[in-house]
Amino acid sequence: MTTSPRLRLSWGGATDQGRVRANNQDAMYADWGLFVVADGMGGHQGGEVAANLAVRAVAKAERGSVSDLRNAVVEANRLVHETAIAQPELHGMGTTLTALAVDQHGEGHQFVVLNVGDSRVYRYRDNQLEQLTEDHSYVAELVRRGEIDDEAASVHPYRNMLTRAIGVHPDVEIDEWLIEPAVGDRFVLCSDGLTNELDDSAIAEQLANTEDPGVIAKALVAAANEHGGRDNSTVLIVDVQAEPLTDNDELREVAEDNSVDFGHKEEEPLDASASATGEAFEMQPHASTIKQRSWLYDQVRISLGAALITLVLTVTTAAMVITIGWYARSGYHVDVVANHVVIQKGRAGGLLWFEPTLEQWTQIQISELSDVDQSRLANSGHMSTLNEAQSFVATLQTRQFGGEDGS
Ligand code: MG
Repeated sequence: MTTSPRLRLSWGGATDQGRVRANNQDAMYADWGLFVVADGMGGHQGGEVAANLAVRAVAKAERGSVSDLRNAVVEANRLVHETAIAQPELHGMGTTLTALAVDQHGEGHQFVVLNVGDSRVYRYRDNQLEQLTEDHSYVAELVRRGEIDDEAASVHPYRNMLTRAIGVHPDVEIDEWLIEPAVGDRFVLCSDGLTNELDDSAIAEQLANTEDPGVIAKALVAAANEHGGRDNSTVLIVDVQAEPLTDNDELREVAEDNSVDFGHKEEEPLDASASATGEAFEMQPHASTIKQRSWLYDQVRISLGAALITLVLTVTTAAMVITIGWYARSGYHVDVVANHVVIQKGRAGGLLWFEPTLEQWTQIQISELSDVDQSRLANSGHMSTLNEAQSFVATLQTRQFGGEDGS
């Protein structure tokens, strides 16, 4: 017996540095229930760092509800802002961030869209393309106020000037929308490298194609390059499909047919098997209420001895957490972030929920190092002091830039 429709998502993405820019300062993340695009800005490498830091912060955060996603974006803002202040080379960096996520705590099958900056989320439904987000840019403000039209905006000298971005200020104002998806919807997340080259009708033309999302994403990025490719362009497409849900159906993964062409190594997608289908949105309150009630009666009989044991366990656990935290955050290691050699504080790969933090950014790109130095870096291991890590990085710099010719 069919009880409710089961949402199935399939997605694909592509990113490219374009024909003019020296590197790709866009970043993206795709996983079941969470899709993010960021477009970094600032300095030689600042934009790349900002976009990657922000996307990783959102990808690693708690997820499921609107407030989880909002908190993740606030955390991304804090991380980018504090890193920009701590590292002189990264001063002024920031990034746009646009995200589409499944709201698993709300009623029904809702999506949440969050946006800061001028990357966009579109919905393509019934052959109509609708921009769901508002651009936070100077020219978009002028258009909204009726002072210029879209055509004038597209050639305005200040068209790249943002009025809001992640990491620029200690606080960030985030736009958010709740969206009721329908079967057949096709969502598009993209950076302005796409929308500055292709207008909405050209984008809609590509989306009318019934090919897989990954194929369409690559075609859109290629089209942006054909129209000039003056900026990095990134496109992530999410298709909403339905399958009948029957009482005997079992949860199964839906991620098997997704492709994302990142152009560079990305985070491993998080667990894609959990809550992948319609069951995630259904509650069975009666059974759990009864269970909780009998559990509550049992609790009344709790003895003073048990309370003392609980107190001792709590204190012991807190001491263990503090010790593990101290251990995880002690020392340094040399790592690679966004293709650059960096010094991180803490254990490589983190320990439990203690993640390493960026201590020092360097200009050294991993691709410019010899195989020998790349291997030395990979095996450099844990270092107890910042001095030790800096000395190691200095030897990489010496080798990279030479100096043996005595000139
Ligand atoms: Mg851009």
